[in-house]
Amino acid sequence: MSQLPTADPYLPGHGDLSFGVRRYDLDLAYAVEGNRLSGDATLEVEVLLATSRLVLDLAHLSVDKVRVSGARLKRFATRSDRLVLDLAEEVPRGTTLTVVVRYSGSPRPLVARDLGDAGWEELTDGVIVAAQPHGSPTWFPCNDRPDDKASYRIALRVTAGYTVVANGVLREHRRGGSTETWVFEQDEPMATYLATVQIGRYVDHQPAGRPASGLPVRVVGPADLDAPGFARQHEMVDAFERLFGPYPFSGYAAVVTADELEIPLESQSLSTFGRNIVGEDWDSVRLIAHELAHQWFGNAVTLRHWRDIWLHEGFACYAEWLWSEESGSTPAAELAAEHHGRLADKPQDLLLADPGPELMFDDRVYKRGACALHALRVKVGDEAFFEVLRTWVASRAGTSVTTEEFLEHAASVSGSDVESLLTPWLRELELPALPS
Ligand SMILES: [Zn+2]
Repeated sequence: MSQLPTADPYLPGHGDLSFGVRRYDLDLAYAVEGNRLSGDATLEVEVLLATSRLVLDLAHLSVDKVRVSGARLKRFATRSDRLVLDLAEEVPRGTTLTVVVRYSGSPRPLVARDLGDAGWEELTDGVIVAAQPHGSPTWFPCNDRPDDKASYRIALRVTAGYTVVANGVLREHRRGGSTETWVFEQDEPMATYLATVQIGRYVDHQPAGRPASGLPVRVVGPADLDAPGFARQHEMVDAFERLFGPYPFSGYAAVVTADELEIPLESQSLSTFGRNIVGEDWDSVRLIAHELAHQWFGNAVTLRHWRDIWLHEGFACYAEWLWSEESGSTPAAELAAEHHGRLADKPQDLLLADPGPELMFDDRVYKRGACALHALRVKVGDEAFFEVLRTWVASRAGTSVTTEEFLEHAASVSGSDVESLLTPWLRELELPALPS
């Protein structure tokens, strides 16, 4: 048997560089009782390198049928959490194909070495999909690469009585006997790991206020939820739109599960929180700000390689400190100094711009990344710094980026030698001094 492709060394056994997916149309049904998922995924594929084989990622689910238009399918097979499509002949670069996969099964999280488990997960009464970074194949066949963004339509027929929240805009909600169908469309390009559905006995909670831009912001959770931590979420949107530029999607939902969750997680146009992270304490509030900030940094502007994870986590962590400052609490400079002190006491064996998969979500990536941004802010001044952030999002939204691109961008916008300033933070182990 031939070797199956890997697109990114941080996620061995995921992704295929020979093609891209332009659109996913997921037409799914899910029975909460019994955890049974079934349906059709229609993928609009563009061939990027001449190939006679397409390898999709799909874990734990069985494939009942595959149809390909635009090329002749010789056979398909599933192995090693992949769906391998052998074509009758090689198709040239630039060919567009439509692939329809009918599949079914009982979805469950995918466990990866160094990364733990991710993906479709049953709650006490409902479902979360927390896919970062490797969990998407647990619920739909995909080309699981962070740099392969697509538009999505997600239709889910689910047991009546549950609320579904997925990416983008709710286009349709209809009831039919014992089921309800929810149809979402995400037009802005989205990486596979940011695709999600949330299923629970949820209601919409009246938000405390609306953002100045009129952006629809929801708090969705159990009827008895008391979540004072979200009371200022609309003000966070105002602050971040001022600092980072317009919110990049057409709405935002914070979904709070009835269960407690270890960590919250961002998806495109929504985030998921356990009901243990809803209070007015700083640890809840900073995470509410953090996940919201990922809509700009991570979701609109997405890394091309997982090694550049600081472009997501360093920025979202710095956004926590900015919210602290904007809300009249501790200034970012003070938080940077405090966390810099803590970093100095920790082992300095992490390379920020390539931490390795096992340290990808290490707290030092977050804090050192945020300190590096603070160092940049001190060096170039507030005006240039926020101009760098705003133009970074404005010029890169919908695309995939690298650290090198950020350094070039920051240098050209600020007119400063950003490379010399940030290289020790990014590419050397020793913690640089924090300028003040
Ligand atoms: Zn984060």
